Amino acid sequence: MGVKVYHRIEELRAALTQIRSEGCPIGLVPTMGALHCGHISLVTQSVQDQQPENGITVVSIFVNPIQFENQSDLERYPQTLDADLALCEEAGADIVFAPTAGEIYPQGFSTYVDMEDDCLNVLCGRARPGHFRGVLTVVSKLFHIVEPTRAYFGEKDAQQLFVLKKMARDLNMGISVIGCPTVREEDGLALSSRNTRLSAEERTAALCLVRTLNEGRIKLEDRGRALRERISAEFIASVKHFMIETIEREPLARIDYADILDAETLGAVTNTTRKAMLAAAAFFGTTRLIDNMNADVGNRDEETV
Ligand code: AMP
Repeated sequence: MGVKVYHRIEELRAALTQIRSEGCPIGLVPTMGALHCGHISLVTQSVQDQQPENGITVVSIFVNPIQFENQSDLERYPQTLDADLALCEEAGADIVFAPTAGEIYPQGFSTYVDMEDDCLNVLCGRARPGHFRGVLTVVSKLFHIVEPTRAYFGEKDAQQLFVLKKMARDLNMGISVIGCPTVREEDGLALSSRNTRLSAEERTAALCLVRTLNEGRIKLEDRGRALRERISAEFIASVKHFMIETIEREPLARIDYADILDAETLGAVTNTTRKAMLAAAAFFGTTRLIDNMNADVGNRDEETV
């Protein structure tokens, strides 16, 4: 049985009503298309999770205009619907929902979801004003349209995963928001739909992100150094400085940010931090890439702070 494609909300809803009435779970994988193995890993996870209970997986493909603060980034966003459908089918997805912008944002649309929280004053929240308002709005619309049991997002967009988990909790949506590990190329570059826009030279330069994060992670996890010292504000600042300098040394990179935060709060690293998150964003030509990695700084039993 092939994957079914719906472009209209009402048609999708009608198809899902039957499944929901039978009590079968629905997994949702929201994407902006131009699918790669990173997206497909979320689809595979959803298929695996829903199948034992006879459930289904819905993949949404929608380039959400209101989360782009840069019009030319939106216009140049890759669109490959036919190839996407083939990949979804191969991965075992049951339904692809591919609405038009007019279907999601009809004339007169004026209700948005936003979050007042310090977690939006860091990383992409600070670098891309209005971006998360667009993400929160479209994902809450998708949640209302599909009413999934579980929804799958990549750790590659760690701040997005964080805010979506918080939204589902804050608004009592009753949906499990599940994070899936970042899928990388063999040389470490995180898969991204935007990678196809890189020249060969920019593609090589982009490796500075994963290299920097990894070197920073090794410094934070250095067991030869007392934990107290490793999580001190001075040491964190010095590793952050190292990350910024390393990215700036790459001639084809224009750094947007590099930071180290508590992975569980997105606040500053403190002596209660168990996992630190190193995150970086940079432009390679006109293409902006992001990446992140966690460092284990919390083995409190073995090391005293
Ligand atoms: P996007 O189409 O870029 O909006 O991404 C759709 C979903 O796929 C998001 O939840 C992303 O975090 C996730 N994703 C994108 N790239 C990767 C990757 N390399 N590994 C795992 N998940 C990813």
